[in-house]
Amino acid sequence: MKYCKRCVYPETHPHNMTFDTEGVCSGCRTHEEKDVIDWNERLESLKKLAERYRNKDGSNYDCVVPVVGGKDSYFIMHIVTKILKLNPLLVTFNEQYNTKKGIRNLANLLTKFDCDHIQYTIDPGFAKRIVKASMKKNADMYWHCNAGSNVFPVQMAVKFNIPLIIWGAHPLVESVGMFSHHDFVEMSRKTRKEHYVRGHEQLIDDEYNITEKDMKIFEYPSDEEIEKVGVRGIYLNNFFRWDSQKQHEDMIRLYGYESGEQERTFNPYENVHCLYSDGVHDYLKFLKFGFGRATDHACRDIRLKRMTREKAIELIQKYDYKKPEDLKIFLDWIGMSETEFYGCVDPFRDPKAWEKVEGKWKLKDPIIDHVKEEGIDDVRLQKIEERKYILTVSPESDEKDDKPYLLGRGYLDKRNFRAVTD
Ligand SMILES: [Zn+2]
Repeated sequence: MKYCKRCVYPETHPHNMTFDTEGVCSGCRTHEEKDVIDWNERLESLKKLAERYRNKDGSNYDCVVPVVGGKDSYFIMHIVTKILKLNPLLVTFNEQYNTKKGIRNLANLLTKFDCDHIQYTIDPGFAKRIVKASMKKNADMYWHCNAGSNVFPVQMAVKFNIPLIIWGAHPLVESVGMFSHHDFVEMSRKTRKEHYVRGHEQLIDDEYNITEKDMKIFEYPSDEEIEKVGVRGIYLNNFFRWDSQKQHEDMIRLYGYESGEQERTFNPYENVHCLYSDGVHDYLKFLKFGFGRATDHACRDIRLKRMTREKAIELIQKYDYKKPEDLKIFLDWIGMSETEFYGCVDPFRDPKAWEKVEGKWKLKDPIIDHVKEEGIDDVRLQKIEERKYILTVSPESDEKDDKPYLLGRGYLDKRNFRAVTD
């Protein structure tokens, strides 16, 4: 199997990563653009863009900003309110896999940035039926999260007549380099259809009691409705030199963002809001494509010149192959045995990554066999910075979540840990 000679991404990456003649992946090549782009000029162009969308008479919001209790939300809000000085409407699609930390982070975000917020929680029983159907059909436990968090902000933009949505990093630019920073990729009809609500029709099934009408909540407004309001979705990584680690550290310092240890990766910053994101969800990715979140995070650190390829491979050995403890919590919740779980996944295992040997699945060609290869030193980035991840102190003593939470406390008082500003 082919692995990038600079980072550690395998060719089984689901977003069609490409490799050049030197064996370097498209994500690494796109990342090089970060060092040559004039980011001051980009910021100026973003300020001009924001000016065009500012609601001049103050009768409406200036933009929609999707937020969660993790995942760059603080940084996006910092840019939107402090740098661009816009008045956003914050929106959250409740993925229903919440952690206590994520709930605190979201409450703290709303308080610190002092903005209006709408959260959409779908019927929990329906959410479970969707998860069950999408597990059985696609070995996917995140369909409603991806669809809801991409569709709901667009629905709100149309409903409230707000033509600008501001997202964080576009993953197809930031990690796989399917698009360049020079493309200024925005939310498009094509990505709306192809990436976020793919498999929508497949889930409509009597067996799981999911009707076409139920699934309407996951439909984008029509192209006509979107065009009438003129909704446009922009990504901030086209305007800022995206550095998620540094950004999260600034947010810890400025606003008290909470990080949290993750079972399947060394990076405690991004997915603290979700019980499963760096657990079962990521384990499923590993079982399908042969790599997990530690690989994603290591690739990023290599590109930012903070980690050697050798160290990355060491960390991948520690994290990517680990069966997560939250698997049991998830299976109990959905009512599925472990055998059934693996039964769902096996048909989706990429044959480039996996083979069955004497009845057991085995990685065909793991990254550990690609530590030394011709050409690696030719494309190597020298590590220039040691940047340690910061674990914040949790204000609750019983921190470990043994279940996902549907909703958090909706009021502020002295027990509402750090959501109060005084
Ligand atoms: Zn690479």
